[in-house]
Amino acid sequence: MIDYIKKAYKLMESCRLCPRKCGVDRLKGQTGFCKAGKLPMVSSFHAHFGEEPPISGRNGSGTIFFTHCSLRCVFCQNNPISQLGQGKETSAEELAVMMLRLQTEGCHNINFVTPTHYIPQMLEAIFIARDKGLKVPLVYNCGGYESVEALEILDGIIDIYMPDMKYSDNTSAKKYSNAPDYFEVNKIAAKEMYRQVGGLKMYRGIANKGILIRHLVLPEDLAGSQKIFEFIANELSPDTYVNIMAQYYPCHSANKFPEIDRRITAREYIEAIKLAEKAGLKNGFRQVMSTIKRKRIPEWTDNLKIS
Ligand code: SF4
Repeated sequence: MIDYIKKAYKLMESCRLCPRKCGVDRLKGQTGFCKAGKLPMVSSFHAHFGEEPPISGRNGSGTIFFTHCSLRCVFCQNNPISQLGQGKETSAEELAVMMLRLQTEGCHNINFVTPTHYIPQMLEAIFIARDKGLKVPLVYNCGGYESVEALEILDGIIDIYMPDMKYSDNTSAKKYSNAPDYFEVNKIAAKEMYRQVGGLKMYRGIANKGILIRHLVLPEDLAGSQKIFEFIANELSPDTYVNIMAQYYPCHSANKFPEIDRRITAREYIEAIKLAEKAGLKNGFRQVMSTIKRKRIPEWTDNLKIS
């Protein structure tokens, strides 16, 4: 086995693939906080047209949705997959076949969704797929709660990072995602990703390298949007692409928390956009206001300015 893949698997022996550092031996089938075992589990794979325009393009993004998650958000929209284990065990060879099939369908990239706890298996599959002709860019689409030790192994392999920056307020991070150190961990991870790939680069409107950050606006500004935007503008670059998402709705167990048991208002969303502009951010995507009220595939505009 190639050295960097071996190194990644080594992190599973006493698991520290993510900052939780559970220390369980995943290679022997033990499970930790995320409940992921030795083999990767996939819930679905298909061309996805609802990602940001440079990611989905005309032909779709080749998404591979992994089962389980190292966060446990009370408002997770994919709870059956992330927390209840919906999906099917697969091998690295089968994962490689999925990637090649998505490329054959014309997808602009391979988009690994929630891959943190399966980094070694993902790397092994990428190696197999590349040997068989995989050429499209690889997207690491994650919750942003990442270990730098694991991210370093991805240097030179992952082309596009799409991390969330969910909270600057660790009280919220603890309460809603069981991650009391989220902001510190998230900032260090974002810096490492930026170091590896820089800002988003595109050719004919389709991304081929760089970082695109997602921020979900929460009711009552419980995410702490301002500090996140300031960090991005000041410590990464004001040119960083940020998708400011309006699509929050209370699902899974969010109804146990009255303060987040509602959608955000148009006013809260506009306020977040203004904060991004005030922080100096110049590039990104905002969702059209109608998506706040109605649950549907988002529409995008690539201008952070309020119209
Ligand atoms: S990947 Fe899973 S088992 Fe490993 S440290 Fe993170 S939560 Fe724990």
